[in-house]
Amino acid sequence: MLKVTNYLTKTYGQKDGWTLAAYERDLEGYKTARQVLTSMTKEQVVDEAKKANIRGRGGAGFPMGVKWSFMRPHPTKPAYLVINADEGEPGTHKDRTIMELNPHSVVEGCIIGCYGIGAHVAYIYVRDELHLSKERLWAAIKEARAKGYLGRTPFGKDYPVEVHVHTGAGAYICGEETSLLNSLEGRRGEPRLKPPFPAQAGAFGCPTTVNNLETIAAVPTAFRLGCEEFSKLSTLHDIKDGGVRLFGVNGHVNKPGVHELCVGVTMRELIYDLGGGVLGDRPLLAVIPGGSSTPILRADEKVSAPDEKNPLHKWHDMSVLDVPLGVDTFRGLGTMLGTCCITVMAEGTCPVASMHNLMQFYRHESCGQCTPCREGSAWLLRITEKILDGRGTMEELDQLHDVANSIMGNTICAFGEGTAMPALGFLKKFRKDFEAYVKGEKTKAKNGTLAMGSEFATRMEGH
Ligand code: SF4
Repeated sequence: MLKVTNYLTKTYGQKDGWTLAAYERDLEGYKTARQVLTSMTKEQVVDEAKKANIRGRGGAGFPMGVKWSFMRPHPTKPAYLVINADEGEPGTHKDRTIMELNPHSVVEGCIIGCYGIGAHVAYIYVRDELHLSKERLWAAIKEARAKGYLGRTPFGKDYPVEVHVHTGAGAYICGEETSLLNSLEGRRGEPRLKPPFPAQAGAFGCPTTVNNLETIAAVPTAFRLGCEEFSKLSTLHDIKDGGVRLFGVNGHVNKPGVHELCVGVTMRELIYDLGGGVLGDRPLLAVIPGGSSTPILRADEKVSAPDEKNPLHKWHDMSVLDVPLGVDTFRGLGTMLGTCCITVMAEGTCPVASMHNLMQFYRHESCGQCTPCREGSAWLLRITEKILDGRGTMEELDQLHDVANSIMGNTICAFGEGTAMPALGFLKKFRKDFEAYVKGEKTKAKNGTLAMGSEFATRMEGH
């Protein structure tokens, strides 16, 4: 059942929602940070955080508390908390709402996070184009500092904490954590080889935790409610996917928006109950579940999990639209939850044009360090373009598979797979459409293509 909450979004849509006054009035702002810093040890903070089962909200879904526990004090080097607010994944539009409409939750989350991992400085890395987000974060930091919540002795505790906003230049790859760290250090935004992982050698060579912005913004709520209680709000608590989170719905729906809901909501509820149904009452063709790098699901797909030991068995033979949106449930469907902003594609959308649209993006954003990604993304675009123009052959259609498969597992960072996986998804799920272009049964002119992206309207509630 649909459970709408407003732990994070209560200040959304209010005239003064982003101010300290609203945060303290409506969300008991900074009481939790005060309580944590004055009554808990670092170790207790990390142990408690683990109980929240907050799966990273940036796409990878790694448990936040476990990530915090990787931090070990270094004898000579400081530790850092870095917040990833680069949010450049096509179809993703949730972190921006927090920065613009409830920035103090981020600052309070940073205070608790810094204390837990043993850092005194947090950097919030924000995409430069997000002007209002930066302004609101700067204003929130200034207000928190003026009140003594940041600085040398926050809440009277001898544990200095500072939060800084750092602006990136708008490269998609800087959303990858090690590339972000390079950019933060003033270097070219290129991913690093791992290991070492950031917890060993991150920002400036020091132990670092990189958390997504929504992840850190969830921390004050989790600690205020009690982390276990927070986790239990989710219907997927038993598989360690806890709490509430922001769910986005965009593309061909009547009411695109961002909603705070208990984890475990379904795509059907998002599209039809909250999104107002498919634009123009057209049938639903497909959904991209969590940003453009997550493989597409057809609306007519059913769950195939005949084995009772398979966690998806509960939903065996049901529509994929009725599977709860969770990190592990969607992995089980052969896709990913990603950023949890679903992109809806109505019947009539051309999958070939949509894939072409995406490949243009990925070709442009590849940092070029490794050959499979740099060359592969170019070939994926070139061949898709040829097919779309009616100049492709069946052999080239097979080559698309080969190119995408040769990217998988052969690159420095996950961007390569983030390019190949959606391509393979389109090819597998919509093979007939690609073949129709090759055979001349479909052409751009005849098809009157409606590519996903051509009418993206990410209107957000509260704006
Ligand atoms: Fe750069 Fe692509 Fe290699 Fe990542 S996979 S390092 S984006 S070339």
